[in-house]
Amino acid sequence: MDGKEKPETIAVSAGRMSAEHFGAVNTPVYRTSTILHPNLESLKSEGLPYKYGRRGTPSSRSFESAIEQLEGGARTVAVPSGLSAITTAIFAVCSAGDHILMTDSCYGPTRHFCDKTLKRFSVETTYYDPLIAGGIDALFRPNTRAVYCESPGSLTFEMQDVPAIAAVAHAHGASVLLDNTWATPVFFRPLDYGVDLSILSGTKYLGGHADVMVGTITANESHAARLSAFYGDTGIFLGGDDCFLALRGVRTLPIRLKRHQESALKLTHWLQSHAEVVRVLYPALESDPGHALWKRDFLGSSGLFGVELRPVGDKALTAFFNGFRHFGLGYSWGGYESLIIPAEFKRTARKFEATGPLIRLHAGLEDADDLIADLDAGFARMKAAS
Ligand SMILES: *Cc1c(COP(=O)(O)O)cnc(C)c1O
Repeated sequence: MDGKEKPETIAVSAGRMSAEHFGAVNTPVYRTSTILHPNLESLKSEGLPYKYGRRGTPSSRSFESAIEQLEGGARTVAVPSGLSAITTAIFAVCSAGDHILMTDSCYGPTRHFCDKTLKRFSVETTYYDPLIAGGIDALFRPNTRAVYCESPGSLTFEMQDVPAIAAVAHAHGASVLLDNTWATPVFFRPLDYGVDLSILSGTKYLGGHADVMVGTITANESHAARLSAFYGDTGIFLGGDDCFLALRGVRTLPIRLKRHQESALKLTHWLQSHAEVVRVLYPALESDPGHALWKRDFLGSSGLFGVELRPVGDKALTAFFNGFRHFGLGYSWGGYESLIIPAEFKRTARKFEATGPLIRLHAGLEDADDLIADLDAGFARMKAAS
């Protein structure tokens, strides 16, 4: 493929190795440690595609190569979770004595990692306002090695001006990392906007069926060697079964995302006009403060959004959450099923202003009108208990 195809086409075609597998459409699951060589020359030769299980199998290469092509990157590595992708990417660029600029809107466990483990390794973290754009310049120190973005942010959905941040970071010689789990490369290609390492929790939309934990990191040309070296050195690897499931999800990723988007738009429009709702946090809505940036850089919006409710007592809120037919109460998202949770998060750089409780919803692949009826019944329970 020459990289000019649309994501729908890349998702279907990329990473296939039929010729090497008797014509089978899908690369089979490789469960292997040892690779046998026919002779000593082969055992000692460099440049063989497969030499030892931990260093890659057709299962891992098929999956990684599909993500490489979707992201438009030079090298993708597969890891056992999204959080593992985040920590691996940060460790690949930061060393003891370095400083990292982290968005205040980052995924909660990313903050925990920075505050605990990264600190123990003598890397200092400064949290910045996700809306800072080029103003991030003032936060750089001589030892600032990386800027980490997440757009839209976890739970609060602020859009970031990624090209403006990347331009400043590169002028200071720092690397730019971005958690792209919400959009996936189908809706946003970070490397085209100045990002050096694009991070995905494949547990969400790539897998898409709530049945696999996986993460990926994709590097541009300038960061491929660094990423490969750290990955190889630390022995991180994703087994064949998980690679197979993740790649099977990728085949239908664009078409599922379109449906998640369609339903999320229906639900958010309905919620916006509901009496119990203060505002909806979803950059695809024209009323969203991040809408202009979203429209400029993104090709679509996925199924995850936030809702600020009017102030409501604990009893009424509990009645709202207890009793949904279709919205499951549970962490993660990006599977075929709808989910709902109360949003709890910490902020240190910029206070998030809200009068009532914040909740997070994932629009699954159920019929959108059935989902709306489910939410409507929830609001009725809430009212009855107030
Ligand atoms: C879920 C999530 C992660 C972590 O992914 P896991 O596969 O659960 O480790 C990272 N970033 C974002 C934005 C997430 O929502």
